[in-house]
Amino acid sequence: MTLGQTDGVRLLIVGPQGSGKGTQGIRIAEAFGIPAVSTGDVFRAAVAAGSDLGQQVKAIIEAGDLVSDELTSAVVRDRLSHADAEGGFLLDGYPRNVSQVMHLDEFLEGRGEGLDAVIELSVPRDESIARISLRAQEQGRTDDTEAVIANRLAIYERETAPILGVYRTRGIVDEIDGVGSLDEITHRIIAALEARGLSRSAAA
Ligand code: AMP
Repeated sequence: MTLGQTDGVRLLIVGPQGSGKGTQGIRIAEAFGIPAVSTGDVFRAAVAAGSDLGQQVKAIIEAGDLVSDELTSAVVRDRLSHADAEGGFLLDGYPRNVSQVMHLDEFLEGRGEGLDAVIELSVPRDESIARISLRAQEQGRTDDTEAVIANRLAIYERETAPILGVYRTRGIVDEIDGVGSLDEITHRIIAALEARGLSRSAAA
């Protein structure tokens, strides 16, 4: 498949809650000069602002359930249509199930684009639970309670992990060990992307 005239880099970062994907996503997006698009952040900001969207998703997020594919995909299409995402982007938290993968494929194909790489951050279950508990104390996120965390991890394993199988068949998944210092992990990701020929200078 020939992609459009794309200078930028189109990335997705995937990992269970507590894998550090939000933090690493921001670092990688900065390194490549592309916006980090986190659906969780968009929803949390909408809840905080009390907007229509926020009112629609508040209870769902607090239970750790998934917002509907239609609503989430509409939010992402809207965000990726902003000028700053024309030259590439890093998605964090979307797609989160196979149906969302199909929504995204259709949208990107319509623009003559596709994902260049999917970063899979691997962290043992015990470590991710420990990190979420720490974040719960530090940030007081309403969806970081024990029961909600268990629900979110179960949804990750049931619905989100299978998307990696889809992307693996396309040969675009880089599995990265998510245990180590922040800098070490960032360097591992950048090295894997550079090994694919995705260079930071091309995005500058
Ligand atoms: P996150 O910060 O990525 O863990 O997202 C926080 C919450 O936002 C999730 O637990 C879901 O309720 C909702 N959410 C984020 N991304 C999606 C998505 N792609 N599909 C459905 N719900 C989502």
